[in-house]
Amino acid sequence: MERLEAEIDPSYERVIAKCKRCGHRNIFSRVDDLKTYEPVGGMEISCLNPDCGFPLWITGDIVNCAYEMLLIDCSDLMKQKHYIYCILNISQAYEMFFSQYIRYTLLYVPYANDRNLARFRELYGRLGTKLGDFTFAGLRNTFLKWAATGLSIRSYSLAERQIDVLSPKEDTPSDSLIEGCSRPELANLLAAVKCVKVHEIRNDVVHHAGYRPRRIQVESCLSEAWTLFSGLCDALRIRRDNLDWYDASNSSLA
Ligand SMILES: [Zn+2]
Repeated sequence: MERLEAEIDPSYERVIAKCKRCGHRNIFSRVDDLKTYEPVGGMEISCLNPDCGFPLWITGDIVNCAYEMLLIDCSDLMKQKHYIYCILNISQAYEMFFSQYIRYTLLYVPYANDRNLARFRELYGRLGTKLGDFTFAGLRNTFLKWAATGLSIRSYSLAERQIDVLSPKEDTPSDSLIEGCSRPELANLLAAVKCVKVHEIRNDVVHHAGYRPRRIQVESCLSEAWTLFSGLCDALRIRRDNLDWYDASNSSLA
């Protein structure tokens, strides 16, 4: 049967596909409807308009990391003046970024050196349980300390020991620890991360009578997040948060 390529509007949780036959705007949940967390390289779906149901082809999905997709979603939220949702998204993007770095350090680097999938899965589960107790501050402080001191873990046994001593109450690293980082450009980025306030605005929303942020605050937080993530990804060479990517990569990680 003939099928039409649909115009798509992808976001973190959804893919919206416009049917070229009837014009219906089809909203698909990635998890419930498309049944994949992977970017859609090409998939046949049917128009959800009961009077149409025409086969549609969706392709050209975005392949950004989860934390970037939450920031991308903010552009639509900004247009709708949903500033609270933007602040929640930006705070969560930082938390996802920090936890991705922790997974990268404790799971993906050891995996790239020893492709023992059973061991990887065991530690993945243990780390996930441990990180469940972490707030923004705990994730950020752990990230800052490790990035500033260049923590490098290359074996599962060392990773396991590190998971055991991970603490959600990790102290905020001192300015001198961050300034002592051997790479000045990274030290500047880490110092800026230490000053980020978006989670405090989120706390005002949640705990202080539903504080309503202003557009100018959201614009500033969003632009700061894009700048920091882009600089940190280059400086730390953070790779994908996806085991298949490491499986496909033949070289071990530096
Ligand atoms: Zn249709």
